Amino acid sequence: MRPFAGLQRMLKKSLRTLPSRISLFVFGTTFITTAVCAYISISSFQQFLDQRIDEKFPSILVETAGKIEHWYQALVFGMESYGDTRGLIPRDATALEIRNSSETLGFRQQTADQLADFLDHSTRINGLFMLTDQGDEIAWSGRRPSMKQPHLRKLADVESPAVSNLVRLEDEVFQFVSIPLLNQDEEKVASLHAIVDLGVLLPLLKSDQIGESGRIFILDEAGQPFLLQQIEAGYRYAVPQEGLNSQVERYKNDAEDRVIGTSIPFGHFGWTLNVEELQSEAFAPRTAIVRKVLALNLTIILFFSGISILLARTISRPVRELAVAARRITDGETDVVIMERSAHDEIALLTLAFNRMSKKLYHNQVELKEKQKRIETSNVQLKAQNHELQSMIETLNRLSITDGLTKLYNHRYFQQQLRVEIARATRSKTPLFIVLIDIDNFKNLNDHYGHAAGDLTLVRVADIMREQIRENDLLARYGGEEFALVPGQTDLEGALSLAEKIRMAVGNARFQLDTSSVAEKVTITVSVGVAHYTGDLKQSFNHADQALYRAKGDGKDCVRLYGVET
Ligand code: GH3
Ligand code: MG
Ligand code: MG
Repeated sequence: MRPFAGLQRMLKKSLRTLPSRISLFVFGTTFITTAVCAYISISSFQQFLDQRIDEKFPSILVETAGKIEHWYQALVFGMESYGDTRGLIPRDATALEIRNSSETLGFRQQTADQLADFLDHSTRINGLFMLTDQGDEIAWSGRRPSMKQPHLRKLADVESPAVSNLVRLEDEVFQFVSIPLLNQDEEKVASLHAIVDLGVLLPLLKSDQIGESGRIFILDEAGQPFLLQQIEAGYRYAVPQEGLNSQVERYKNDAEDRVIGTSIPFGHFGWTLNVEELQSEAFAPRTAIVRKVLALNLTIILFFSGISILLARTISRPVRELAVAARRITDGETDVVIMERSAHDEIALLTLAFNRMSKKLYHNQVELKEKQKRIETSNVQLKAQNHELQSMIETLNRLSITDGLTKLYNHRYFQQQLRVEIARATRSKTPLFIVLIDIDNFKNLNDHYGHAAGDLTLVRVADIMREQIRENDLLARYGGEEFALVPGQTDLEGALSLAEKIRMAVGNARFQLDTSSVAEKVTITVSVGVAHYTGDLKQSFNHADQALYRAKGDGKDCVRLYGVET
């Protein structure tokens, strides 16, 4: 599994890009298509070639057999007509007369001359001889192998033209064509025999239908090749398999060469006519076709794979550019524009749409920034307004709890805060005091100096009192020229001392009331009533009021505590 996993990883890695996937797909499809086409075309061509060879080889042999047959017929015909026309024997002679004549030297010489003459004119034979009906030699011309008498007698038995089997004599192969010599009564009187020049047959064992390695040869009745040894020493012939008969077969010859061949029986002497050719040569056209088809297929595969790579690149490059541009936008760039292509395909449309989107994004961002700026500006404005509003609210709040003239707390706020103080004092179980302060003889002052001077006096008295109190003391204008005070977290002594402190501060102050006379300064006094908070607010106020009343009664400009007689 391991090596396959490695291969898988490698394949996955190399198929990561779009061009490699497309080109592999195109390569695969063209490879399969061309391989199928190649298989079909090569196998049909092979069929065609096989059929052609199946027809060609037997037809070569039939044609060759015809030529050889004709060759022998021509030889026999030549011998017969020579015997007739040249008057080798007298027309009226009998076998006995020929036998007797053959005893005479003249007849023999004359016959020998005639045979020599025939031999001179014949290209097919290299020996010629005439025998009596008993097989005795009359005359002999040309090749003369040593032959025993019984053999000659056998030859002389010829009744009609005959071609002999191959005869081995003196380590050579001979063949005889024999014809009977007849008199006018059609009786055999002698016989004529030709020794076939087998070498002359060789040119017949050729065909321009087979190639260089092609051979046509003859096997004799013993299955031995002949002629071949004479023409080409060392040619390694093949003996076709048994039963091979006009059927084209493929086999290995004795030299282990792959050959293709067939054979047909030939003549009445048990010969076989054979043809064979090296398979490499017989099927050479197929090899050429295979080469051409493979070259063509390879060209097609490379061409389409190349085209697919180029095509895939034209797709992937802009897609990659788009991806890079998209990443730049993601990284925060805004004015990203891709070069637009002149083509009108989907990629070009995508690029166009991308650029539009990018421009729109850019404009939106610019707009957004402007809006942000506007919002920031209005935020600042809003903050300022808010601040103003806040201070206005504060002023309003302050105004709502303060007295417009003296800037002390007003009556309403005093009541409100008093409740808080009561709650705190109750919780902490500490005493609480109510102090009422009233300006003495204010009516007279008003009457004497005028209402405006009265107002001014009220303001000054308030200021003086404010200076005397602490932060946790509650002081308010209670009404007219009356003030209320709740000292914060103090005992009776503290409350009385604060009351006294206020009384003295006012009393010690000098007031400039008359604008006409600069030198005259007036003294203002206040009377103060102090009461302990009893738990009942109304009652406690009443007590404070009573204490104040008593202070007034005691001559004014003094502090009186409710319930304590002085
Ligand atoms: P007493 O010593 O007994 O307190 O005498 P009084 O004159 O101060 O007493 P009264 O309460 O009779 O007079 C108060 C006067 O204060 C009446 C009113 O004209 C005057 N007054 C009240 N509020 C104001 C104000 O806001 N401004 C001015 N200028 N005068 C005011
Ligand atoms: Mg009063
Ligand atoms: Mg008064």
